[in-house]
Amino acid sequence: MNEAQRAKIVLKILNKIYPKIKVPLKSRNVFTLLISVLLSAQCTDVTVNNVTKNIYPKYHKPKHFIKLGRRKIEKLIKKIGIFRVKAKSIYNLSKILVNKHGGKVPKTFDELEKLPGVGHKTASVVMSQGFGYPAFAIDTHIHRLAQRWGLTNGKNVTQTEKDLKKLFPKKNWNKLHLQIIYYGREFCKARDCYGLTCKICTTCYPKRKKPIKTIKT
Ligand code: SF4
Repeated sequence: MNEAQRAKIVLKILNKIYPKIKVPLKSRNVFTLLISVLLSAQCTDVTVNNVTKNIYPKYHKPKHFIKLGRRKIEKLIKKIGIFRVKAKSIYNLSKILVNKHGGKVPKTFDELEKLPGVGHKTASVVMSQGFGYPAFAIDTHIHRLAQRWGLTNGKNVTQTEKDLKKLFPKKNWNKLHLQIIYYGREFCKARDCYGLTCKICTTCYPKRKKPIKTIKT
């Protein structure tokens, strides 16, 4: 079985398990989505949602965060990991959005990735979930699962993104990104299984006898 055949099996099974999928991070506009994605680095979506539910009703535009200033932003997000660094990024990016982009979140990878604290993964999530642009954000779950399913050699996240984009039709990228994340959290956890039990692996690799090694990001 080749990679394209395995990709078809993965897509079919994931569509069956997750016919509809909810965006896990709560937001009220593209700006707050950007903030939530930035906050979710090294932190669970549940923690981010618990913190932001007390912030976004009152503060949901770049100008609100500029007015708050760094110290007050720190206080608001202090339950989240590396909050000082994140508060600095939120404050600085809010200033850039107001000064350079008319208070709006830009719609291109290039402009998004120039914002403080925003890397390619964050930009991809914003482009896909905020603007509906086909993107394939690769996080640690997706990187791990793509290796276990034999869809990439797992060299690094950049390679994984390229490989997955080649294997799956563009129209599936945005939903598939979330489906793989959900599957990774629910069934295919980092330390739990190495490729021997459930339907995706047993269908793609019926002869697999030994656990497979995963290259970390
Ligand atoms: S068999 Fe293991 S590695 Fe394969 S999809 Fe299931 S949980 Fe993941």
